[in-house]
Amino acid sequence: MLTSRFSSRLRAALTSLALVALAGTPALAQPRSQSRPLKVFVSVDMEGLAGVVSGSDVGGTSGDYQYFRKIMAQEASAAVAGAWSAGATEVVVRDSHGAKQNMLPGDLDPRAKLLRGASAGPKNMMEGLDSTFAAVVFIGYHARAGTPNAILAHTSNGNVVDFSINGRSLPEGGYNALVAGLYGVPVVFVAGDGAVVRQLRELLGNVDGVAVKEAIGGAINGMSPTAAQDAIRLGVERAVRARATYRPFAMTPPYAMVLKVAKDGKTFDGASSSAKGEYTFTSPDLLAVLSAFNALK
Ligand SMILES: [Zn+2]
Repeated sequence: MLTSRFSSRLRAALTSLALVALAGTPALAQPRSQSRPLKVFVSVDMEGLAGVVSGSDVGGTSGDYQYFRKIMAQEASAAVAGAWSAGATEVVVRDSHGAKQNMLPGDLDPRAKLLRGASAGPKNMMEGLDSTFAAVVFIGYHARAGTPNAILAHTSNGNVVDFSINGRSLPEGGYNALVAGLYGVPVVFVAGDGAVVRQLRELLGNVDGVAVKEAIGGAINGMSPTAAQDAIRLGVERAVRARATYRPFAMTPPYAMVLKVAKDGKTFDGASSSAKGEYTFTSPDLLAVLSAFNALK
């Protein structure tokens, strides 16, 4: 036990040491919550993940689906880590595949929030996005229906033959980028097969990305999951840092939709059937157009 005299001297010495230490604390050590907020939104699909080649990889009871839902969380976590390295203060990850319950919550980087489960609104794969976000990232994305040399190319579901707005045929990443643009948020990075990366660059212009695989007939030639995750982490960090150089994707309203489907027969208020298997709908409100698309597809 210390004598009280010695103890008070020690306390004084420790206090002054602590003050010196505090005065020397660099700005870097400030808690992140005190810096300016930087929110990043990550929408994660499955068909464009490293290694995925067939439908049984992305759903159903196959053991490979159980494997690839872990890969999905790992690629999402790589994007979270990249965003965090670039200074993100909040990252929201949207599970964007099928019923939206693929990633198991405990598998995701705990710094992110997970938006899990289907939602009724028209934003769908972009549910939760608003104008408080600074950047959008797409992971596991795939090319639109009918794209040659692409892996598991489709638009929303197997029934959609083509979906266009104002004459531009859109992949999921295209109309999701329009939703982001509605809130003034740019898409800064896309990971998926080579076809979707090329397709989104053609549509959006400048966007960073990594092709984790290329189609060869019905097969793929692709990166290992680990190599893909490293490329995603570094790429997302680079893209979020450079977010000011990417433009939000926008079209001039009104939005005129033409939806071609394999099997028709559905109705939506204000939509007309211009030909067999073809619906048209026009509105100044993009979200109303997406509601029509969701009802008719
Ligand atoms: Zn999907």
